[in-house]
Amino acid sequence: MTDHRRALPSVDRLLRTAAVAAVGADQPRTVLVGAIRRALADAREAPEAAPADDAGWAAAVARALAAATTPTLRRCINATGVVLHTNLGRAPLAEAAARAIAAAATGYSTLEYDVERGRRGSRHVHCADLLADLTGAEDAMVVNNAASALLLTLATAAEGGDVIVSRGELIEIGGGFRIPELMEKSGARLLEIGTTNRTRLSDYERALGGGVSRATAGAGSAGRPAEHGRPRDRIARTTAPPSPTAILKVHRSNFALIGFTEEASLEELVALGRKRKKPVLYDLGGGLMTDLADVGLAGEPTLPAAAQSGATAVIASGDKLLGGPQAGLLIGTAGFIRRCRAHPLARAARADKLTLAGLAATLALYRDPARARREIPVLQMLTARSADIAARARALAAALPAPANAAVTPTRAAVGGGAFPGLELESTGVALAPRSPSPAVLAERLRRRDTPVVAVVGGGKVTLDLRTVLPGEEAEVVRAVAAALG
Ligand SMILES: *Cc1c(COP(=O)(O)O)cnc(C)c1O
Repeated sequence: MTDHRRALPSVDRLLRTAAVAAVGADQPRTVLVGAIRRALADAREAPEAAPADDAGWAAAVARALAAATTPTLRRCINATGVVLHTNLGRAPLAEAAARAIAAAATGYSTLEYDVERGRRGSRHVHCADLLADLTGAEDAMVVNNAASALLLTLATAAEGGDVIVSRGELIEIGGGFRIPELMEKSGARLLEIGTTNRTRLSDYERALGGGVSRATAGAGSAGRPAEHGRPRDRIARTTAPPSPTAILKVHRSNFALIGFTEEASLEELVALGRKRKKPVLYDLGGGLMTDLADVGLAGEPTLPAAAQSGATAVIASGDKLLGGPQAGLLIGTAGFIRRCRAHPLARAARADKLTLAGLAATLALYRDPARARREIPVLQMLTARSADIAARARALAAALPAPANAAVTPTRAAVGGGAFPGLELESTGVALAPRSPSPAVLAERLRRRDTPVVAVVGGGKVTLDLRTVLPGEEAEVVRAVAAALG
């Protein structure tokens, strides 16, 4: 038995080896030393695969250097057919948005500078007018994401009081983000009403009081309000009546509730809120700006419709159906938005200049809805015609090397991002079924590239769905498949 470890060269010896020095010539010495240590550690772990000569060591160090210097966050090709793929960065941006971000990033900007008056301005102006114009809301503000918009809205509206919310809307959005937990962190207390499947307007009316105390509200009535996270007996014993300060409605964006169901409409809640002088907050989620019913995407409320319902505040994401950068859009009445801006949490949740630049440019495209559909990638992908996707799939299949054993195949794409749950988009893919490697290995090789190609493995094949492969990415896909085959 030979001890391979004894045969391993020292770091210094490798640094002095010409072939190793050559692969690290354009790297800082510390980075090269790190890569050499990595290569040595790999050799110690798998002695049977340890390099045998200088050329072998140079190749091993080059691999370690590449791994150490390739950014973990990088562009990739989404061949999954899921348009708003949260793991893949949700919405790819429009050219105009990318240009605006680059311009704001590489120089100084008027982020908080009023050029007309020559003095300090506000970052809140950049998207507010556009959002108000596009949605018909009185005012708007932009924060880091929809979750922080919800936090800020609740903290502003509830002021430590109870927020009424239907049990059917206490949802988890994804990544463990649960509406009830976030609500508690805002300082608001939850006043849950109704049942999982049915919550009526009368449940909201009862929760808003007319002298109903916590104790009597909880006394055996089916629609009794209960405070989240508090034992029922404590609620029963407490004498302080609930003090509802706001009504929250949450759009069930990522699942469908069907069957024996009932809910109060936003319009009904807005009317109730007016009558009882309570703000009505609506977490819309998706952020759809223009109606897409003509392409079969119906049923998702639009931002303008929500804004014009008269709700005090509407919350949406910037990087879902709107197709912009990660952001939280908060649109509503002038008075409420003013209070949100002045809240201490507004500073903690604020959006940065790159977000604001990209979002403003995305919103500007919506001034012409046809242009928005042409230039915003999310809308392009959602409204793409099946026949056009199929034509692209045929062209890709024809361009792939024969051993890929590629076949054009119908697929089911999805909107993703928790929008349009259950809806499938007719799409077309290219299925790869080579003799070797196996589908799992092929998918891994496609993934482990400088520009990863993320595909779907299943049914003994690797499928590339063309709905989410952006125009112009096909050549890179062909290169990736050719390399992965062999
Ligand atoms: C997606 C979603 C959120 C969270 O949005 P982020 O921008 O990811 O923070 C909140 N509420 C609803 C209803 C959603 O669909």
